[in-house]
Amino acid sequence: MLDIKIQKTENPKAKPEGPLGFGKIFTDHMFIMNYTEGMGWHDARIVPFGDLSFSPASMVFHYGQEMFEGLKAYRGEDGKTYLFRPDMNAKRTNATNDRLCIPHLPEEDFVQAVKAIVKVDEDWVPTEKGTSLYVRPFIIATDPFLGVAPSKTYLFIIILSPSGAYYASGLEPVGIWIEDDYVRAVRGGMGFAKTGGNYAASLAAQVKAHDAGYSQVLWLDGVERKYIEEVGAMNIFFKIDGEIVTPMLNGSILPGITRDSVLNLCKHWGYKVSERKISVDELLEAQKNGKLEEVFGTGTAAVISPVGKLRYKDDVMTIGDGSIGPVSQRLYDTVTGIQLGKLPDEFGWRQEVK
Ligand SMILES: *Cc1c(COP(=O)(O)O)cnc(C)c1O
Repeated sequence: MLDIKIQKTENPKAKPEGPLGFGKIFTDHMFIMNYTEGMGWHDARIVPFGDLSFSPASMVFHYGQEMFEGLKAYRGEDGKTYLFRPDMNAKRTNATNDRLCIPHLPEEDFVQAVKAIVKVDEDWVPTEKGTSLYVRPFIIATDPFLGVAPSKTYLFIIILSPSGAYYASGLEPVGIWIEDDYVRAVRGGMGFAKTGGNYAASLAAQVKAHDAGYSQVLWLDGVERKYIEEVGAMNIFFKIDGEIVTPMLNGSILPGITRDSVLNLCKHWGYKVSERKISVDELLEAQKNGKLEEVFGTGTAAVISPVGKLRYKDDVMTIGDGSIGPVSQRLYDTVTGIQLGKLPDEFGWRQEVK
């Protein structure tokens, strides 16, 4: 158990009015904990949200040794505050830390810290339909040293941001650009790790896709540029001839918690489900034969994001009739229903913040 010191702000901010958007508004407090070689993690504290000061030589600014997580706190129909599978974020934190030579953070400490900061700022959890309090834990390397080596000191920080409904006007299918030039990750790289570097690597393709009128990039494997990997910040699923298919975890794909939840639900419902290699050619062929029935992304932000259009070189595949497919809709309703306490939690995924 962490001994968390709490220093409350003397100047609480006014709660935002109107649409929240995403990631622009922050709550009154933040969680901070230090790591020092020889001492381990120490000085867990909750303090007023505010700027931090660092040496410009801090290692994170130069070589990118950092990790992050993303999860949400929801206001249930019963007025209580819930988290969705925070233990999975704690596990993934250590998988990422291993890859980046960041010291382990005990899983129970991660969950305790998330619950503690959410509790302190609980009145920031928005109540309107589709809204939530986004939780962003992250770790940065802080040694003031320009040598390339793992840092000996770190900060683990959690900030909170009330966020608006992802879908202002229902679940509208998005257009996706299959990138055939840039790649995001390769086997043996750090594609499975949740770290800023993967996002830095994705920006050029994202700008290209936006300029062409597509909202997201779908990455292909880094070697043959032939097999489907994932979308920007979402994993990807296809329903092909009745079968639910998603790329298997191969080291270059982020193991999404929503992905895992969707796989569990689809198996539970009796669908034929496979995690395997899927080539772009297979998709083109399936679409030509009318067998590409649904395509959707999965991630904490949107939960389920239906895909209406996929572009690959000169081919533009349209999926379905431009509205959300039945499996996508059922998954969205079920996952959000469990998150908000509207549906029974058969899998033990929901945790109350007390
Ligand atoms: C976070 C993330 C996802 C989605 O993971 P969830 O745990 O479902 O939110 C997918 N891909 C990438 C690259 C990510 O960073």
